[in-house]
Order: sequence, then C-alpha cells, then structure tokens
Amino acid sequence: MKKKIFALCVTVIFACGAAFAAPAANAEKLSVICSNFAEYDFVRQITGDLASVKMLLRPGMESHSFDPTVKDILDLQTCGLFVYVGGDSDAWVDKVLASFDKGKGPRVVKLMDLVETVPEEIVEGMQHDHDHDGDDDHGPDCDHGHDHDAKEEGHHHHHDGEEPELDEHVWTAPENAIQIVKKLGEVAAELDPGNKAQYASRAAVYLEQLRRLDDDFRKLIEGSKRREIIVGDRFPFLYFCREFGLKYYAAFPGCANQTEPNPETVAFLIDKVKQDGIPVVFHIELSNGQMARAIADATGAQVRLLNAVHNVSAEDFEKGITYLDLMRHNLNVLKEALN
Ligand SMILES: [Zn+2]
Repeated sequence: MKKKIFALCVTVIFACGAAFAAPAANAEKLSVICSNFAEYDFVRQITGDLASVKMLLRPGMESHSFDPTVKDILDLQTCGLFVYVGGDSDAWVDKVLASFDKGKGPRVVKLMDLVETVPEEIVEGMQHDHDHDGDDDHGPDCDHGHDHDAKEEGHHHHHDGEEPELDEHVWTAPENAIQIVKKLGEVAAELDPGNKAQYASRAAVYLEQLRRLDDDFRKLIEGSKRREIIVGDRFPFLYFCREFGLKYYAAFPGCANQTEPNPETVAFLIDKVKQDGIPVVFHIELSNGQMARAIADATGAQVRLLNAVHNVSAEDFEKGITYLDLMRHNLNVLKEALN
C-alpha cells in the first residue's frame, strides 16, 4: 500500500513536471488566431515573426457562414489571443467562449468594441426584407413608411418599425483600422512583454502607413468630380462611406444573406447610373459580380472590384497580399469611379 502511494506521488510529480515543461517549449511565441483576413493582416503587421498568427477563415472562404471545426475550437482554447469582429456572422463566438472553463481560454479582442458602431442602413432602391405579409410591392417604389422627401436632406433613411442590426464591417474605414491596430499593439505587448519594444515600433510604422492611406482617400475624394458610388452587390462599405462623406446606392444592406438579384433593384441602379453618369459599377471580393455586370452591360459603365477585405483568394493569400494592397487598389478604382 505504501509503495503504491509512493508510486502515485512520483507519477503526480512527474506529470506536473511534464505539464510545466510543455508550455515552456510553446511559450516562445505568442499564438494569435484571427477570425477574418483584415484582423489577420493587422496582427501580422504588428508582430512579424514574433508571433504565430493564424486566420480562422480559410482563404477564399465565405466569411458570413463560417462554422468552426472541432480543431478550430481546440486551437482557440489554447491560443494566447483571439481577435474577432462581433456582430451577426460571429454569433458562434460567444457560445464557444462560454464553453471554455473559467479563467482558461485566450485573451479576446472584439473589433466592434473598439470603435463607434452604426446600424446597417437601408437606402433608396435597396433590396431588403419587409416583413409585410401579402404585399408583393417589394421594390424601389415601395412605400412602407419610407419618407421619400427625406432624400433631399438625408439620402439615408431607416425603415420604420424595423430594428436594423449593427453593421459589422468596421475595419473598412482606415480611421477605424488605426484604432484597432493601436489596441492590438497594446494587447500583444501585454501578452508578450519581452517583445514590447518591437511591437511598439512595428505598430508605429504600420500606423503611419494607415494614416497615409486615410489621407490619400481624403484628398482623392475632396478633389473628385462626384461623391457617389454604385455597388451592384452586397454593401459592406458603410463605415468607409460615412468616414469620407460618400453617398452610395447598393443592392443589399450590409452582407445580407438574401442576395438573389431582384429585377426592380437592378432597374433602379441602372437608372441611377444613367441619370448621374456614373462611370464605374462596383462588386465586392469573392462575389460572382453578376449584378454589377448586368448594370454595366445596360449602361456602358465599367465593372471594378471594391475590396471590403473580409477574406482573400488562396492565390492572393499565397502571394502575401495585405490590407494596404487591397485598400490601395480601392483608391485607384475610386479615382475612376468618382471622376
Ligand atoms: Zn460582410
């Protein structure tokens, strides 16, 4: 009996020794998991080789219907930092985080907590759920509480009686990206104080590049002929357009699930392009671009990609494309669209 207890003690001590040894080997690098590409790139810019950074979405994957695998959940539980957006597409996150034992699991940064959020907007011509029974007048001419006179002053108006959800695409405005990167830099330094100075200097360099980007958008838009864009697609650019005072028309609010092209919406956007002499119609990344092409075919406008930086293709991921690359592309196509 005594022998057995002794053996047990040794085993326990040995096991503890092993348990202490294992994290020490892994503790060399801060491990970070990010839910989408924008976050992944922000963290990568700040940490360089100092951290191991993983994107939860696989390149090319649709970001609004993501479901974590068992391995993803295990990885999340053991990583040092988890960065996610919040909002509708990340609804799974709360449940997963709540399933972790108290005091365990990663440090968490939620983008929507870092900046001022706004509800999704329904603008004229947009396709959206009405929740009105027995009424098939769903289109630009509908009159369910829309105040069409508000167009003159506001252009944007909400549908009465509907609770619009908060728009999650906060990272699309460079000013928000700046706030997010500042926070991520601080958190990386807290979690890995040994590399604090390096995180600070890398973040400072990156923040400067983001400020220049913000400035370039501002100058372009201030100096351009028009301040209006047409997006023949879902519309994840609310924060971007608000930041730079751009008026917009688009097919769907936010990244609505309902994306079957509605002929009335297409007709409305075609009229807009003709009326306002719009030279470019946009589609978003990883979209089939069908509606934008239909509008362009009917009007002679050009089709261009406006990146919302949810995710990138496998090819671009391999190439190491960045948020700044994608936003610089946006700057170039906006130059065409606004002049
Ligand atoms: Zn989206």
